[in-house]
Amino acid sequence: MRNYRVTGPVEVPTAVLAAMTAPMVSHRSEGFRSDFADVARRLGPVFGTTRDVLVLTCSGTGGLEAAAWSVLRPADRVLSVQIGYFGQRFAEIARRTGARVDELSCEWGEVVDPARVAAVAGDYDAVLLTHGETSTGVLGPLRAWSEAVRGAGDALLLVDVVGSLGATEIGFDELGLDVAVGVTQKALACPPGLALVAVSGRALQRARTPGSRAFYLDLAAAADSATERTTTWTPALPQLRALGAALDLLHDEGLPAVWERHRRTARACHEALASRGFEVVPAPEHRSPGVTAVRLPGGVSLWVRQAAASSGSGLLTVGGL
Ligand SMILES: *Cc1c(COP(=O)(O)O)cnc(C)c1O
Repeated sequence: MRNYRVTGPVEVPTAVLAAMTAPMVSHRSEGFRSDFADVARRLGPVFGTTRDVLVLTCSGTGGLEAAAWSVLRPADRVLSVQIGYFGQRFAEIARRTGARVDELSCEWGEVVDPARVAAVAGDYDAVLLTHGETSTGVLGPLRAWSEAVRGAGDALLLVDVVGSLGATEIGFDELGLDVAVGVTQKALACPPGLALVAVSGRALQRARTPGSRAFYLDLAAAADSATERTTTWTPALPQLRALGAALDLLHDEGLPAVWERHRRTARACHEALASRGFEVVPAPEHRSPGVTAVRLPGGVSLWVRQAAASSGSGLLTVGGL
């Protein structure tokens, strides 16, 4: 509740902050390589993948841009499934690659029915999804959406998990996701500065085909560097060290316990706010364990002003971490 109106950066444990003060080393040194490989490997279970996770020096938006620019090509047909402001932003990023982006949306606070996705997904090369939609406090039905897309064709699945990574299960391998983008500064309780990107084999293959205009944010280059246990460019070393310390804490607690803690905290937020007369925006089955959104009386909007204005709803998002 300290992070009123924004969902990150969140409060960072002292041990994680302390890790940032270690001396700087070269990112080509053996010490760096072993620490880096360790972080990439230990991020895998957080996403639900056996693959190593790529670490980019940028915020979540940079990670979404890396996904779009590395994987999409001009004239690709892309379906953007939008349940709020961050879905709109991902669509805008995809449009700038020259891809043709169509939108499926719904009332804010609700979810796009997976049956609507299933009906059209076969016509697309890629589908953009938002898991934890921060602007509405909704956790999108990632499993049902993924099954809808998989059942309809072979579109690549690009997912914004910025608002959910660390707060709940992603199931990257099990759901057959292709790119999932998360960050350090939200539910992982680290300082900001890194995007964390899980990439499937076929998304990586796509990233290697000619036509990518990504350079600094090229996922294929990041993957090649990762096989040599390093980053393509000079990384944000203190942030990486902090991430290593946060993963120590996370794996000590155990992922199921971490996810249960987020669910418990979210429930307490929902109950406390409801008892004070606020209306929690999503129906109980769609509430995110990472973020709580409540409707204010009189259409007042404090946080997603721009998005709320366009949707006509008054939403307040409260950090639930
Ligand atoms: C915070 C957030 C972003 C943007 O992340 P930055 O790190 O601020 O660039 C994207 N998507 C969702 C769902 C978010 O909550």
